[in-house]
Amino acid sequence: MSTQEAGPKLNLLLDGCRELGIPIDEHQQEQFARYSATLADWNQRVNLTNIVEPEAVQTLHFLDSLTVVGALPTESLQSGRVLDVGAGAGFPGVPLKIIFPGIKLGLMEATGKKVTFLRHLVDHLGLSDVEVQHGRAEDLANDAAQRKSFDVVLARGLAKMAALVELTLPFLKTGGLLVAHKKGDIAQELTVAAKAIKLMGGKAPNLREVNAPGLNDGRVLVVVEKVSPTPVGYPRRAGMPAKQPIGV
Ligand code: SAH
Repeated sequence: MSTQEAGPKLNLLLDGCRELGIPIDEHQQEQFARYSATLADWNQRVNLTNIVEPEAVQTLHFLDSLTVVGALPTESLQSGRVLDVGAGAGFPGVPLKIIFPGIKLGLMEATGKKVTFLRHLVDHLGLSDVEVQHGRAEDLANDAAQRKSFDVVLARGLAKMAALVELTLPFLKTGGLLVAHKKGDIAQELTVAAKAIKLMGGKAPNLREVNAPGLNDGRVLVVVEKVSPTPVGYPRRAGMPAKQPIGV
């Protein structure tokens, strides 16, 4: 497959990766070009994203996904078990997997059409060690093979912080990290979430400002380390974490 036949040029992504210190080889560039073309194609039939213009995809989806790299330990990037909850069209999990192919990636998504896209994408990009799961985090968190099993959980656009931690922290091992993409003034959101974070076994969050070309618009990564097990009974049944957030 040549880059040209697979899709558009990737200058913005390449510049951004250089700024972030992320090496990206030719094969990986081809995978990103193919991802961009597949997203644009499927998005005509399935509502996956409002961002489809190739240059915007490079910055607002691909590069934005890769900003988590600076927040993660090397071992996790080399061979960690990483879960993306509410993966949608694959962000941020799939771009991370393209750059770090040693990751064992789980993609969890509640909407069937998005799951169909993700399965096609994983196959089309030739990715191995990726498990795509159709379901809600509230239910899948009780699966013994997944509860307290991941080194890293990622979430972008999933929910407000209080609900988000109930949906994600149960999947982490003690010592594991949640990295959540957020934007704007989230002070109030974090204050509200403090009780939920503690109850789910998380330490007080670390905030990392995102500094990358085209992404200097108040983006932050909220990093929460899991320091104790999540009590039995959490997450509560499907819908509850968002409908009646802990501490609200
Ligand atoms: N992470 C993607 C998608 C964000 S939209 C991105 O940043 O582009 C949020 C996604 O989470 C939706 O696709 C929605 O179907 C999914 N979702 C919401 N609640 C969920 C839950 N409880 N379990 C699993 N997926 C969920």
